[in-house]
Order: sequence, then C-alpha cells, then structure tokens
Amino acid sequence: MSKSKKWKKINKSVKERPKVQEYKNWEELPPIPISLPIDGSSGTTGDWRTFRPIIKEGCNQCGICWMYCPEGVIKRKEDGSFEIDLNYCKGCGICAKECPSDIIEMVRESDIEDG
Ligand code: SF4
Ligand code: SF4
Repeated sequence: MSKSKKWKKINKSVKERPKVQEYKNWEELPPIPISLPIDGSSGTTGDWRTFRPIIKEGCNQCGICWMYCPEGVIKRKEDGSFEIDLNYCKGCGICAKECPSDIIEMVRESDIEDG
C-alpha cells in the first residue's frame, strides 16, 4: 500500500472508524505522526533518568516495546532487533512492563558503572 493510501485510511471520518482495531502484529499498524524528543534547556531526557532499561538476551523481536514506548525512542535495526536511544529514554519502564518475554530489566543508573 502506498504511503498516501495509508494516510487516507487513518483519516476516515469518526463514523467510519471502527470502535476497536485489532492487529495481528506490529507491521499491520498504520503510520501515525509522533513527536520525537529533542534536547531541552537542561540537556537530554537521558541526563535526568533514574532507571535505565536494558534489553537482555532472548528478545524475540516482537516489537511490543517499540509500540508502547511513549517517547518513540526504541528503534528497529536492519537485522530486526531493537535498541533503545538512551539519550532520550526517560526511564518510565513501560517497555519493561509490556515486554511479553520479560527480558527488559530496569536498572538504577547509579548501579551502572558507566552511568
Ligand atoms: S523506559 Fe520508557 S522511554 Fe525508555 S525506552 Fe522504555 S518505554 Fe521508552
Ligand atoms: S517487547 Fe521484549 S521481546 Fe518484544 S521486541 Fe521488545 S524486548 Fe524484544
């Protein structure tokens, strides 16, 4: 489906929109506009984060963390794996809560050697 057709699909009138939308996987999600974080007057979000999410071994590349991250800072790499942009991650822990494989660990920044 072309990009313009995808946009038309999500811009349907309220009446036409289904009340519940179900997706088999993250690849079926229509594109939506999101605002990505940028540097603020006191630095990046990662400068004041208390807990850091760490993706441990065993990721099944389901993309659930990517879908739920409210900051849009989880990126899908070319090999299908996911990485977190720690410059802008705010450490909310939603990705860790939603990961079905329970392999994202929230670690206190002060407990990380380079933190
Ligand atoms: S901790 Fe929050 S901001 Fe950071 S990657 Fe996870 S969901 Fe996104
Ligand atoms: S939700 Fe968990 S298993 Fe799925 S891609 Fe993210 S880290 Fe990997």
